[in-house]
Amino acid sequence: MEAGPTPVLALTLTQTPPTPISRAMELLDIIKLPDPVLRKKSAAVEQVDDDLRRLLDAMLETMYEAPGIGLAAIQVGVPKRIITIDTTRDEGPRKPLYLINPEILTLSDDRSTYEEGCLSIPDYFAEIERPASARVRYVDYDGKQQELEADELLATVIQHEIDHLNGVLFVDYLSKLKRDLVIRKFTKAARLDEREKRKHVAL
Ligand code: ZN
Repeated sequence: MEAGPTPVLALTLTQTPPTPISRAMELLDIIKLPDPVLRKKSAAVEQVDDDLRRLLDAMLETMYEAPGIGLAAIQVGVPKRIITIDTTRDEGPRKPLYLINPEILTLSDDRSTYEEGCLSIPDYFAEIERPASARVRYVDYDGKQQELEADELLATVIQHEIDHLNGVLFVDYLSKLKRDLVIRKFTKAARLDEREKRKHVAL
């Protein structure tokens, strides 16, 4: 069955980001393809304490600033099973979601397609088909266990971000040919970037 028009744009936004909550917050560096850190499997969080909440705050701010609507800790080099999400767009009130140790309980049989992007694979988008809804168990910002039934864009974002915790990227769902092309492009760009940096050091 052919679905209607594909909802455009998923995990990165091209419009102006909302004003950050606090300019004082230090933004984290987002790791890009082909950094092998992105392939690491993240470990479960043992305790939700102030250190973890500080990391969650910094991740959220980094995500808003990028701008994106989902970020996994491994994308800022921390191999912990935590995710920040906010699928609200434009000027509406922010609805940040913090998922600690998220676990998918069920996935629907029906599927939906979104054009996905990733803050670790900038300016690359591809249509990815995934289960249309998901039931997720997680620990929240206050350390309480929660469950959530997600559908539409949120279901896709949650699956995309949980994939990050397992070292999986959305380009892994593409054909090998397409995936290899993307990886080659980013590997080349990273090499050029390195060379640029070295040139600057030489000056
Ligand atoms: Zn991503």
